[in-house]
Amino acid sequence: MRILVVEDEASLAKQLTSSIAEAGYAVDHAADGERADFLAQTEPYDAMVLDLGLPKIDGLTLLRNWREAGLATPVLVLTARGSWHDKLRGIDGGADDYVSKPFRIEEVLARLRALIRRTTGHLTPELRAGSVALDPRQSRVTLDGAPVKLTGHEFRVLSYLMHHRGRVVSQAELTEHIYAQDFDRDSNTVEVFIERLRRKLGVSFIETVRGLGYRIE
Ligand code: CA
Repeated sequence: MRILVVEDEASLAKQLTSSIAEAGYAVDHAADGERADFLAQTEPYDAMVLDLGLPKIDGLTLLRNWREAGLATPVLVLTARGSWHDKLRGIDGGADDYVSKPFRIEEVLARLRALIRRTTGHLTPELRAGSVALDPRQSRVTLDGAPVKLTGHEFRVLSYLMHHRGRVVSQAELTEHIYAQDFDRDSNTVEVFIERLRRKLGVSFIETVRGLGYRIE
């Protein structure tokens, strides 16, 4: 899963991006509205965290433009403390949820997980497929109840496939959702991650659909 953080305040942006990355997501950051607009329109994010007060283009204008253009990516808006006006404008502008500043980072993470869960059609916080369970709350994976150690990239591949269970996901799509923008990508490595996951979770757990991609049933 890949997240875009749009926040112009450097220390807050750093806190958000590092905590979201630690929670197992690929993260990109935009410090102004123009950069955010460019990234949102060209990169496929699973969710975005959007500050409203931004240089160049403000967050609310961005949000309205995106929604008018048909961009459906879930958006968590950051609002000024106690500003019910901001909250209303954000939600009316197409935000899916909001967090008021100052916030606890745990709340942002919990709301992001819930947004991603809802938009991918999952009702329970823990994702299950056969004997494998993935808990995004703890970035934890178990096989028959026993913890399985995964690298960050392996976790992101598995998380994306499990969030989209039953659907064939192409190698290109996986690549776009597991790497941050500045990461040196090599689509062949997806195959390597899949092989490692099969070794850890069972050979038949991830199915290869020839010419199309991968699927978890
Ligand atoms: Ca701001």
